[in-house]
Amino acid sequence: MMRTGIRIVSPEETERQQYFMEEIKKLPQKPKSFFVVTYGCQMNAHDSEKLKGMLTKMEICEASAREDADLVVFNTCCVRENAERKALGNITWLKEIRKRNPSLIIAVCGCMIQEPGMAERILRQYSFVNLAFGTSNLYRFPEMLHNTLNTDRPIVEIENDDIIPEDLPVQRARSEFAYLTVMYGCNNFCSYCIVPYVRGRERSRLPDRILKEADELLHDGVKEIMLLGQNVNSYGKDLANGINFAGLLEKLDSMGIQRIRFMTSHPKDLSDELISAMADSKHILPQFHLPVQSGSNAVLRNMNRCYTREQYLDRVEKLRCSIPGIGLSTDIIVGFPGESDADFSETMQLVEQVRFDSAFTFVYSPRIGTKAAYMPDQIDPEISTERIQKLISLQERLQQDTMRRFIGSEEEILVENLSKRSDLDVSGKGRHGISITVRGNKADIGSILKCRITGLKNNTLIAERID
Ligand code: SAM
Ligand code: SF4
Repeated sequence: MMRTGIRIVSPEETERQQYFMEEIKKLPQKPKSFFVVTYGCQMNAHDSEKLKGMLTKMEICEASAREDADLVVFNTCCVRENAERKALGNITWLKEIRKRNPSLIIAVCGCMIQEPGMAERILRQYSFVNLAFGTSNLYRFPEMLHNTLNTDRPIVEIENDDIIPEDLPVQRARSEFAYLTVMYGCNNFCSYCIVPYVRGRERSRLPDRILKEADELLHDGVKEIMLLGQNVNSYGKDLANGINFAGLLEKLDSMGIQRIRFMTSHPKDLSDELISAMADSKHILPQFHLPVQSGSNAVLRNMNRCYTREQYLDRVEKLRCSIPGIGLSTDIIVGFPGESDADFSETMQLVEQVRFDSAFTFVYSPRIGTKAAYMPDQIDPEISTERIQKLISLQERLQQDTMRRFIGSEEEILVENLSKRSDLDVSGKGRHGISITVRGNKADIGSILKCRITGLKNNTLIAERID
């Protein structure tokens, strides 16, 4: 059913962890409160929901601030150096809090811990950390915490196996919205990216497990599901039952979940079959996150992205023809080693041509162990800063124009929160993945509202209710 080297966590192991959750409840030294600090992407946000789910099962309450908690967990990211620096800075700051609360437990987990040499560095430089564990060890958190509470020595666990955890309790941040992981890891080895080294090889969850979880979420009142994976388009390639991502979407679409989104997609694996499955569906939202990274073929080749600018543009055209009005977002890196002024101009031209609804723009950050970190012609940070500023201002200018196409149209908003700007407004995402603000109050949070788009303010669409 599945390639070798991948291990699905067994029911016996799950029971063993449940045993430790029960044991922790009885310990006199059990922390009374916890706080989880999350860095990075949606996968990390979902891992934090699992940590919170386990801690709640141990009858430890969530504190409202990290200063007030007896247990602080840092769920770290290492995709760019900034994220790593921020996490390490905050961990150091907690050392001061420990002086006020000597029984404070500090745990560090996530991608950063999985980096070669990082665990040793944590032990040496951050000796006040009680527990450090990698991404593949998350399912063993109850046992590791139990051991930590029974020793004065730091505990470090880093497994390099390709694990598929199942049946972990989840404490969702929002009752109406849920993440659902369809696959873990990545096989692409883009030359700048550390993810395959810290999250392991691609492994798909069995479709029955995914459909069962989706059914439970549906019965729990969830209105929107976001399917997660580093490259969801290659879902199923490691399974022997022939299902692919398009097939999985078709099954999920027929279950009656109101809204389904997914991320992330790799342009090289975006098939016509997947686009047709989206176009024919009722509940897969007309939104697509398709990272381009660069508009220059030379840079794309050095990035090992395995597609050309022309192939990327072809996928965009196919998406737009098949799903009219589709919301399109992307990721772009500037200052990749060897990126010339001409390469950068090609990125600017591509952005001008495609007109994305939003773009996440990054300055290239060298990551130890990745190929690009050892490439010649690393770009001067001043040049990269200049380039990213140009790119951001171009995107901002185009985005204003692009989003105007929604003015006058009807949309459905899943309300997430009260607006930050006014107590009389609520905001949420429309079907195209764009933020929308509309008149409303606390009681609307979690509802889907029918609206008409009336205007645009600071990259947020403004709407009026029509129901
Ligand atoms: N799997 C996803 C994909 O291929 O689109 C993205 C995962 S990564 C966490 C999110 C984004 O971070 C990437 O699309 C890329 O733009 C950016 N990124 C990854 N490594 C980077 C690096 N070393 N420097 C700057 N940006 C980076
Ligand atoms: Fe990183 Fe590339 Fe994999 Fe995305 S597809 S996680 S950018 S290696």
